[in-house]
Amino acid sequence: MQAVSADFGIKDALKQLGLKDINEGTSTGSNNFGSGELIASYSPTDGQLIGKVSTTTKDDYEKVIQAAQDAFLMFRAMPAPQRGEIVRQFGNKLRELKEPLGKLVSYEMGKSLQEGYGEVQEMIDICDFAVGLSRQLNGQTIPSERPGHVMREQWHSLGVVGIISAFNFPVAVWAWNTALAWVCGDTCIWKASEKAPLCAVACQNIIAEVLKDNNLPEGISCIINGDYKVGEFMTTDHRIPLISATGSTRMGRIVGAKVAERFGKSLLELGGNNAIIITPTADLKVVVPGAVFGAVGTCGQRCTSTRRLIIHESVYNKVRDAIVGAYKQLTIGNPLDEKNHIGPLIDKDAVNTYLAAIEKAKAEGGNVLVEGGVLEGEGYESGCYVKPAIIEAKNDFEIVQSETFAPILYLMKYSGDVEQAIAMQNGVAQGLSSAIMTNEMKEAEKFLSFAGSDCGIANVNIGTSGAEIGGAFGGEKETGGGRESGSDAWKIYMRRQTNTINYSDELPLAQGIKFDL
Ligand code: NAD
Repeated sequence: MQAVSADFGIKDALKQLGLKDINEGTSTGSNNFGSGELIASYSPTDGQLIGKVSTTTKDDYEKVIQAAQDAFLMFRAMPAPQRGEIVRQFGNKLRELKEPLGKLVSYEMGKSLQEGYGEVQEMIDICDFAVGLSRQLNGQTIPSERPGHVMREQWHSLGVVGIISAFNFPVAVWAWNTALAWVCGDTCIWKASEKAPLCAVACQNIIAEVLKDNNLPEGISCIINGDYKVGEFMTTDHRIPLISATGSTRMGRIVGAKVAERFGKSLLELGGNNAIIITPTADLKVVVPGAVFGAVGTCGQRCTSTRRLIIHESVYNKVRDAIVGAYKQLTIGNPLDEKNHIGPLIDKDAVNTYLAAIEKAKAEGGNVLVEGGVLEGEGYESGCYVKPAIIEAKNDFEIVQSETFAPILYLMKYSGDVEQAIAMQNGVAQGLSSAIMTNEMKEAEKFLSFAGSDCGIANVNIGTSGAEIGGAFGGEKETGGGRESGSDAWKIYMRRQTNTINYSDELPLAQGIKFDL
């Protein structure tokens, strides 16, 4: 173990999470039947090997799906509040292990330590939400048009849920899905990102212990490891009625089509291209932290990261100068060191994509206000640390229209009324998160109205980045249309059934149809 990571307590954290030491290979979770080749996980923070995880072969997968299907038959028969009790215990284990798990998230993915802890807190919050939900999976009674009849709607457990997740939220997205799926009576198979496999093994170790303590089968929670080919085992498998896939729009296009081909359901959480509209009455005290955290938090690698600022021309210079000034105070370095605001990008491919995007923006006529670039020297040996860039651009630039998963912020002007700014905000293919900064009530309401933002998330006087678990999370258009986490997102993890019961002595048909025999 390298000194730099040991300094931040990584070795202890791995131990507490049941992961073996570096170079020894890593436990792949007790019910993971991985016998394929090893994939290595390197930290983008210091370039060191953290551990290796064995991948899942097709034969391994068959054992996993069998275990998940068998477990489903017993789990769906367990009363929902009892399943909620399991989720409550899981949430408590996460409370105990928040520090080591948050550290591992930060070390393996590269986000700041505070954001790593925040991610584990989201897992805890969704567990609390799911525990309450386990007593509220209510159907409804519907008036029947026929005398002596009643109609009801029930929600039944669905089956095995397949979860495919992205590298940037290596633990929370899984929990958003599993906590709800479990109280709904489903069992889950998780294929985590091949870029953060140890976070998945750590989570699996935690839930496996809870299941063991309760004499429940491990098939309730399974992981499989590997790249997209392992994901395809699930997307093409008719034994999995729901695939919840989080990642790029490119991935969603393929996964959505594969699942639809076999009439499965999919919940797609894909890329964003999020904008903040800054109006003449916007309060700079709110604008600057909202826009800067949104653009550089997680090094610009959040699906909700702020990519575009659409600023009214009357306040453009003032806002531009304040944001450029704030960028000068940002510190970039090892994310485990709490003095740093920004950690690295996930890997060198991401660095190359970032550099290419800046070049493309320049070639399309962009004006660079804050120069980007790769950091070198002591502390930056991994080669993944980059400087956040700000570029004045036009909304219709090809590069502005696509999501670059890196800290590049595009500034653009609008000159007319708020409708013009809303048209610019909506004028991209993605529809995840959006925000308006205004103290003018009419502007805020227009932004939230049917003619306003076309995104799944529309905020007033807070940024685009981050969300609370109480609300349904997800977006429209090329963001995929899925919703997970709060509100009534649980319904996708269940099977809806309409019942009509006749308690009369006649058999009247609906719509007044007569069928005399
Ligand atoms: P990615 O699309 O490269 O990979 C995501 C996951 O999909 C990985 O586990 C990968 O192995 C798997 N995968 C890829 N192709 C597949 C296929 N054909 N079949 C089955 N599985 C396949 O994304 P990434 O680089 O890990 O993450 C970044 C992207 O994720 C960004 O676009 C970001 O906006 C998006 N994201 C969206 C949300 C959301 O909630 N909307 C949340 C986090 C990340």
